Order: sequence, then structure tokens, then C-alpha cells
Amino acid sequence: MATTTTTAKQNGGAKTMKSQIVTEHNGPIESREIPIPVPNANELLVKLTASSLCMSDIAAYAGHLGQRAPVCLGHEPVGVVVETGSGVVGFKVGDKVGFMPFRGMCHDCEECLSNQHRFCDKKHEGMTQLYGGFSEYALADPFSTVKIPESISDDLAAPLLCAGVTAYNAIKTVAKQQPGGTPLNIIGVGGVGHVAVAYAKAMGYRVTAFDIADDKLELAKEYGAENAINSMKLADSDIVKTQTTVVISGAAPAYALGVKATKKHGRVIAVGVPHGPLTFDMLDLILREVSIVPICQGSKEDLDACLKMAALYKIKPTISVKKIDQLEDGFKAMMKGEVTGRWVYRFDN
Ligand SMILES: [Zn+2]
Ligand SMILES: [Zn+2]
Repeated sequence: MATTTTTAKQNGGAKTMKSQIVTEHNGPIESREIPIPVPNANELLVKLTASSLCMSDIAAYAGHLGQRAPVCLGHEPVGVVVETGSGVVGFKVGDKVGFMPFRGMCHDCEECLSNQHRFCDKKHEGMTQLYGGFSEYALADPFSTVKIPESISDDLAAPLLCAGVTAYNAIKTVAKQQPGGTPLNIIGVGGVGHVAVAYAKAMGYRVTAFDIADDKLELAKEYGAENAINSMKLADSDIVKTQTTVVISGAAPAYALGVKATKKHGRVIAVGVPHGPLTFDMLDLILREVSIVPICQGSKEDLDACLKMAALYKIKPTISVKKIDQLEDGFKAMMKGEVTGRWVYRFDN
């Protein structure tokens, strides 16, 4: 496979790079020197500057997504194009880019043909094995890659590559059936949730945010929520139902609240990933005609729109910038629920 060979063209002749490897699930993260990958004719090689930690990385680290170790995680990468394959159009060396972790799409199936490349059965999941976003270099597929607006710093752009585009796509899905200016419940104000509140506010919604942590409710207010409610202290009779409810927490009680907080004929937009199957009272859903609508990240078009909207409305995720050798601390802190917003790792400090 091309990703295991090296070239001397890159990085002034350097052939290897540091990659942060999860050696075993829930185990130590090691910095290993591995070959710099080589782009094929349709790929970009990107020298990463910043990469942030997402709850999906935590799920993979904990083994909830199956046996993956040894693996380099990270799927919110930003960097500079240092090499382009001979068939690449639209990108050049020096472009500041961010990308989603999908490569090798077929461009011929009904998903690819409708610009939903992330659902292509031929794609490689993640940035593959040891070549994730917590490496100094990564390969990017132009169909998953966008240019980062100049006004957005690399550190602030990184969380938008997964959290941002997911939040944007969730609120865009709300907007398909519910106009701006109307009330919207958002449940869970973590890394994705606080950005979702910001996009909802930018699209004109009047947000009520729910969480079980008071500091996250404060964050929701800072990002424009009109009401912020601790769901641990909430009686069912106090819930004000909205036409759509966005559930961003993966906890089962968050989904239970999501259904309760949704009006008849309404939709629960499912973003949060639970650790196992959820049960719903199907009779309750049927009798009220409430639908569950899942959201999986977003298209390249969504990512581009999400970044341009962030530039236009000055949407800035809450971040803490860390050194790459502090990565393991981030995984542990995320697992304990101690991270507010996003931890962003830089490769140059
Ligand atoms: Zn395809
Ligand atoms: Zn993610």
C-alpha cells in the first residue's frame, strides 16, 4: 500500500515523521517515528499544524468502535498542502486546508454521485491505521478537503472539521422543516453542542440548551442560548416542547429527554453516539408521529459552508491549545468529562 513507502521529496528530504500511536485500547499513547506517507495520483500530502480531539476518538480509544489498536487517531486536522498527486485539480502546494477522514471514494456510486462521498462503500474509514490526524503528515482526498478561510486560525478551524460540520449539518436539517425565529431545544453542550448553539443562533433560532453540567450551561449562554437548563433538576412538567430537538449527548437519558421535549409530528435530530443500543417507546413515537433523524457529519459542501459561516459570523469554538506530547492527558480528561469545548493539539510547540 502506498502509505507505507517513503519519498525524499517531502519536508526538505525528511523521510519519517512522528505519529502518536494508541498501542492498546485505554493504554499508553506512544510517539513513534514512521515513514511519511506518499500521495497517490488523486491525493494530497498535508503537513499538519493543528488537530483536535473529538468524542469519536475517545470511543475508538476505549474500544467501543471495535479492535483498532495500534492506531493513530485524530480526524479534525488542519495543515498546509506540501505535495499533490499528478491528477489533483483545485489544490496546490501551500494551500491551507482542513479535511475529513475519508479517502479512496469510487466517484461512481449513487452516494458519490450525489456528493455524499462519506457514505461510499469503497472509502477508507479514518485516515487508516497509523496515519491519523495526530501525525505530522497525513494524506487527504480532495473530495473530503476544503480550503480554510484566511480569517480563521488553524487552532480554531480544527474543531470545525468534525464538530463544526456535524453541528452545522444538524441545524441545517432543522431548517429544512422549521423556520428560524422559532424555539429549538438542544440537548448536550459539549464539543459539538456549544458549536451547534452558535450555528443555531446564527440561523436565527431561539435556543434552549440542556446539559447536566452547570459550566457547560454557562458556555451555552455565552454562545447565544436564551435558556440553559440543568436536566438533572428538571421535572417533566417543566419541559417546553419544540418542533425539533437536537440531541448531541450520546447518553440514553439525553435521548429520552429528546423525545419528551419534542412536539407531535416533530423530529429528534440524533447526533450523539450512544455506547450501545437505545430503546424507545415506539407506541409513544407512533401516537405522536415523532421521528428520529440521524445525522452523520456532513458533506464536503457542508464543511465548506460551515467554515464560511464561521468566518462570516465569527463563530469560534471554545478551545484549549495543547502540545502534542500531552495527547494522552486529553484522552483521559475527555473520558472523565473534564474537557469544556475542544482540546487542540499543535505540532510546532
Ligand atoms: Zn462511491
Ligand atoms: Zn469527530
